[in-house]
Amino acid sequence: MSQTGQVPDVVVVGGGAIGVCTAFELVRRGARVTVLERGGELAWGCSAGNAGLITPSHATPLANPEALREGLRWMWRPDSPFYLRPRPAVLPWLARFARASTPERVRASTPVIRALATASLAQHVELAAAGLDTAFERRGALSVYESESAFAHAREHAAESERAGTRARVLDPAEARELEPALVADVAGAVYYPDDSHCDPLRFVGAVGAAAAEAGATIRTRVEVLGLRRSAGRVEAVVTTSGDVAAGEVVLAAGAWTPLLARPLGLYVPVEGGKGYHVDFEPADGDPRLPTWFDETRVIATPLPGRLRLAGTLELAGLDLSVDRRRVDAIVRAGQRGLRGLAGRRVLEVWRGLRPCTPDGLPIVGRAPGYENLMLATGHAMMGLTLAPVTGLLVAELLTGGEPSHDLDPLRPERFQPVLGRD
Ligand SMILES: Cc1cc2nc3c(=O)[nH]c(=O)nc-3n(C[C@H](O)[C@H](O)[C@H](O)COP(=O)(O)OP(=O)(O)OC[C@H]3O[C@@H](n4cnc5c(N)ncnc54)[C@H](O)[C@@H]3O)c2cc1C
Repeated sequence: MSQTGQVPDVVVVGGGAIGVCTAFELVRRGARVTVLERGGELAWGCSAGNAGLITPSHATPLANPEALREGLRWMWRPDSPFYLRPRPAVLPWLARFARASTPERVRASTPVIRALATASLAQHVELAAAGLDTAFERRGALSVYESESAFAHAREHAAESERAGTRARVLDPAEARELEPALVADVAGAVYYPDDSHCDPLRFVGAVGAAAAEAGATIRTRVEVLGLRRSAGRVEAVVTTSGDVAAGEVVLAAGAWTPLLARPLGLYVPVEGGKGYHVDFEPADGDPRLPTWFDETRVIATPLPGRLRLAGTLELAGLDLSVDRRRVDAIVRAGQRGLRGLAGRRVLEVWRGLRPCTPDGLPIVGRAPGYENLMLATGHAMMGLTLAPVTGLLVAELLTGGEPSHDLDPLRPERFQPVLGRD
């Protein structure tokens, strides 16, 4: 319960993976919860179409020396896996990204992400075991490398993962093809992470949202939050297209759009939209059984119910949702180069979504500075599906007066406030 001993009355803004998991964990602890989602249904944003991976193995934050190097190299190529649309507004974010992309910062952040992801994976397992239809599969995931240098780097990463308790098996090309016969690429080698898992992200959000509703949460779709009305360090009401909604507590889980709601409150939330795409194909015999990540092209192939999904690219282009055909074509080419039988296959869907990316690669979870009843839960970048259950748990623990099950210091929103920040 809350510090005052009252049952909290919580409005969660955003019905993506983070919003529904927050609602689910809160309602299980007896809170009264309303989720406000502007879309016609839940998962109207990035959570609908991601690659579906739940990966403690990929715990390196987005801000790392390699990303900085490759980002600079790739940013001028229209078909590259990374693109930055130059805009003055992105410069402060980029400066922080560069400052966070040091080996020391990565050494500090990686165990934080790994611990959260490992705990969250256990929650994904529990949700599936409780009967939620998330299409969860624990088959592991395969990372594939074409160049010897990338493979050498991957072996170091695998050894480091093992030391940290995440199992990893280094495979030569023959072993890789034996494990995943769908591979055609002339690979240098691969690493198999047996504990990684995957699920259908759209089903995940739908199932968790339905479970939250069944437990008593109110889910309101087609309700857009226009702003938050504040008075003396409190949010008094959430102003929406369907009138004002009073709230004891408010959680902003609006993904890449969170800064738009936070800024008028005087809060600096440096979350940039990192656009990515998926291309879904009709499934066919011989499709990969394992989610397979092609390192050189940064494309992931995930077998999902009724489709084979290729997902990739990261375009820092603000909130722009236009589709760049060159990037979509590059994803398809990467899939065809790496997997059997994709040429000429019917495409079911092309989709794009905006990852909420922080400049230091860590999510933002905690009380908004200066507000006694406002929480932020966003900035999960490439790991939002993976980390959604543990984020929901942490927010619920904070709001119901419990001891957070993880150290929240690295995730605190204050780290970015221009005056109070320490980075
Ligand atoms: C191509 C691609 C592949 C990815 N693959 C993976 C993966 O394999 N594994 C993984 O863990 N992560 C992956 N991700 C990242 C993951 O999808 C995101 O981190 C995650 O979806 C973020 O969830 P969210 O709930 O914070 O944001 P969103 O899902 O974007 O949800 C925010 C919600 O808030 C709503 N909203 C916004 N503003 C308002 C408003 N004013 N009023 C009301 N509602 C509002 C939006 O409509 C939206 O539904 C991938 C992302 C992409 C693009």
